[in-house]
Amino acid sequence: MTLKLHNTLTGTKDVFEPLQPGHVGMYTCGPTVWNFAHVGNLRAFLFYDLLRRQLLASGYQITHVMNVTDIDDRILDQAMHAGTTILEYVKPFVAAFFEDMRALRTQPVEHYPRATEHIPEMIAMITTLIKRGNAYVADGDVYFRIDSFPRYGALSHLDRSGLRAGARVAADKYDKESVSDFALWKKAQPGDEEVGAAWDAPFGRGRPGWHIECSAMSKRYLGETFDIHSGGVDLMFPHHENEIAQSEAANGKPFARVWLHSEFLSDATGEKMSKSAGGFTTLRDLVGAGHDPVAVRFFLIANAHYRQRLRLSTEALHSAAEQVRRVREFAERVQRARPAEGEDGELIRRVGEVRAAYRQALDDDLNLPQGVGHVFELIREANAALDEDRVGVNGRQALLDLIEEVDGHLDVMGGGEPGLAEEVERLIAEREDARKARDFARADRIREELRQRGIALEDSREGVRWRRVTPG
Ligand SMILES: [Zn+2]
Repeated sequence: MTLKLHNTLTGTKDVFEPLQPGHVGMYTCGPTVWNFAHVGNLRAFLFYDLLRRQLLASGYQITHVMNVTDIDDRILDQAMHAGTTILEYVKPFVAAFFEDMRALRTQPVEHYPRATEHIPEMIAMITTLIKRGNAYVADGDVYFRIDSFPRYGALSHLDRSGLRAGARVAADKYDKESVSDFALWKKAQPGDEEVGAAWDAPFGRGRPGWHIECSAMSKRYLGETFDIHSGGVDLMFPHHENEIAQSEAANGKPFARVWLHSEFLSDATGEKMSKSAGGFTTLRDLVGAGHDPVAVRFFLIANAHYRQRLRLSTEALHSAAEQVRRVREFAERVQRARPAEGEDGELIRRVGEVRAAYRQALDDDLNLPQGVGHVFELIREANAALDEDRVGVNGRQALLDLIEEVDGHLDVMGGGEPGLAEEVERLIAEREDARKARDFARADRIREELRQRGIALEDSREGVRWRRVTPG
């Protein structure tokens, strides 16, 4: 298996090879905890999770870092409004972020560094940048000097001549040398002290800008050069360009080797979802409207390739829920199936073929939608084989192994209704006993009770089968 990833830096799908054989260092831009995450952010976070799972499936060990931005202008404003400190203000949103991640079944990453806990690392990096002439102090603020970094714009293939021409006009409004220079450090304002958002630094008391935190924290946990950096496509410019400029200028070494960017989620009207624009949809909103977080997960990772736009709609979420239901039902059916005598060679061959196609799709820049498409084809064929009692011991095992492998990415099995299968099995056994004792009224009551809970029973040659239906 050879994993290929689309690297924004090169603009091509390249064979992935980590710096250190067998180990991957990865940094992913995390949430700014000024509010609940909107579903557009969640798409990026689930993309990181898919990438992480594919790296693990490819046999790599991984050190995955995801920052939590607990200081920025919006947090400051909100804390001032609420008359509290920034640390108190963000508490419920930090908790909500981790709750969302659990509900969406993302794997925990190795480090979740918080910006306010890494101020000394940021100050050290800014000090180096000033010393090297890449940054300057202007009236207590510190700016990065873009002209000192000729490679600026390489990631987003930016035309720097346009950047500079525009700069001349508006530069007088700022203390900056050029309007495109960006802040590394912001001088403390009186209100900042009250909300606990000011720190001492050799270049004056203040607080860090947003971009410097990712440069400082990735260095702390992954070193100066590391394998993968990813984020939403909206972060490519200026955030990621600024990270590259800061890190490479300060360290004198290349920064991240591979950059991956996930596309926008758009709302029903086709507009990009953005919490700054207001009226955003959170996971809480969706769960409140009756959507299962596991269906939301499936929708966000499996219904479009990560570099394609995806449109959020109620119909799309319902169809994702239906797909999850089909996968789960199929898995339950295979688990319960009593193997037939002999084997169906054709089915076993097809399972092998689909496994290869699935792996190839995932290795091809994480094409999960294509991989899942192959699996759904197989589910149709295997259901027919089960109907005709053609699945033997080895066929059954091959199907179970494939389901397990696919669920390593999807993670939609189990959970949700803990113990449901055992409970249903117990009631089915009770109903069988009642029938044997010719207590048909009791047997019917059990069937009815299950139907009200959304479980339909079917008597078949393999014994009693059950499946989920609309309750009632
Ligand atoms: Zn970042």
